[in-house]
Amino acid sequence: MSLLTKRSSTGDIVKGGIIGFMIVGVLAVAAHLYTNYGYSKSARFNNLTFYYSDEVQENYVKTIQSKMSEYILIAEKVIGEKIAFDRIRINLKNNKMAQKDTVLSKGVYGYYSNNIIVLRSERYVIEGPRGDAVFYSPPDPVKTFYHEYTHYLTKDSGLPRWFSEGLAEYLAYKTLGQKDRKVLSTIKFNLIVDEKNWETQDKNLLYGASEAYINKIITQWGEESIQRIITESPGTTDFTMVLERAIGIPYLEIVNVLSK
Ligand SMILES: [Zn+2]
Repeated sequence: MSLLTKRSSTGDIVKGGIIGFMIVGVLAVAAHLYTNYGYSKSARFNNLTFYYSDEVQENYVKTIQSKMSEYILIAEKVIGEKIAFDRIRINLKNNKMAQKDTVLSKGVYGYYSNNIIVLRSERYVIEGPRGDAVFYSPPDPVKTFYHEYTHYLTKDSGLPRWFSEGLAEYLAYKTLGQKDRKVLSTIKFNLIVDEKNWETQDKNLLYGASEAYINKIITQWGEESIQRIITESPGTTDFTMVLERAIGIPYLEIVNVLSK
């Protein structure tokens, strides 16, 4: 600004230059705000760019970054070496923003779509018609991030819903250090496999049971069996055959072992 008060023969040129510079600056900021849609902060980390607005969200971003090497270590053994080349954008949304999000407003904690991961950062509350409120359990954006990141890494594998969700839950919880987590398979394997049930049954039970079956597969046939399943899966419509080839025993026997 000191330049503006300086009198010289080239003063007008300097002034013009500064004004031009300022206009470009304002336009750049406007464009930045437009593309970042209401986010005041961003942070780059490897191929990931996080967009967020407050300190609570910033702490989630820092925790996600601090767990990445642990995730890679665990994920490499289970899903094989999957290097992420794409630039991934991660949007952290508070309740106000989540309300305007067509997917989050349905009450989910996060989702992955076309190289974008969206995470809910605040506790979800629905107000009833008489002012009564339904509270959902607090979101865990760090866990949700690693769940959705697993979906990103396995997006081309054509995995069925139960396997994909179970694997995402398994890797996310393992990354957060919950290695001895006991998940009960409260839903029969045959029901989990049927996609129709994912529309009608309780989602928490479905996710928990799917994670439990992934756990069982790993306990019985090792982490490499998951890797083989992921390698065999793309382009195959019959997942029972994928399981048979990867595990090496008939499907009915696999179901028997998983149902114990
Ligand atoms: Zn998922």
